[in-house]
Amino acid sequence: MDGALRPILPPGAVLMRRRRDQLQVGSRPGVRVADEPGAGRVLRRADGVITVARLAQIAEQDGAPDGHDLVRRLLAVGALVRPEPMRRRLAIQVRSDPMTSTFAAAMLAGADEPAGGRPSVTVVATAGEPSRAALRQLCERGIAHLAVSFLERRARIGPLVLPSRTPCMDCYDVMLGRHDPGWAAVAVQFGAARPARCPASPAQQIVTAGHALSLLEHPRPGAVILLDPTGERVEETAPFDVACPCQLLAA
Ligand SMILES: [Zn+2]
Repeated sequence: MDGALRPILPPGAVLMRRRRDQLQVGSRPGVRVADEPGAGRVLRRADGVITVARLAQIAEQDGAPDGHDLVRRLLAVGALVRPEPMRRRLAIQVRSDPMTSTFAAAMLAGADEPAGGRPSVTVVATAGEPSRAALRQLCERGIAHLAVSFLERRARIGPLVLPSRTPCMDCYDVMLGRHDPGWAAVAVQFGAARPARCPASPAQQIVTAGHALSLLEHPRPGAVILLDPTGERVEETAPFDVACPCQLLAA
């Protein structure tokens, strides 16, 4: 088995528990697997970015006697699959500040720079929160963009904004504002001041680029990925805010 392979769950499938001792990947009919040590953890972490070799280590840290054997069996029954090869390389442009240059280099290594004309996606990388006004301008100009921000304790990727087609950063801010009534007042100040240094190490910036490329290859409207320094990944989804002008741009 190729240790550099980066498996994922079958497209569209999610991991569920079927019985105390059995997990299920996907539905109709889905794939049932025994909930043996390491299995749940590997299935939760397989995101198309983490290699088989690393998944095997994760399994063994969770008690699997032979991590490679476990991952091989999950692939054999179809609970994990090989990601589809990228049909075409993405033409991206990266706008980064000097503190995020490692991230920018890793992104460009995994994609194509636009060979003239407009890139398909502009990636905006910042240490600290990006200026909401700058992102809004991209939206108004109809430019597809992905904000990647290195915040105090974690990196945040997304949402990938396809203007008028997918929710924008303002929509995401409205969602956050539901839990924090002061958020809107703080958000207008983002970008006015920059942190003195980037909180993410070069290694974390490279891992973040892998997740950002993966989101560009498999876009999910409104998806925002939060990565903490240990590599744990949480995904939330911002819906369109009914009052946000981003939906009206196509009109
Ligand atoms: Zn919006």
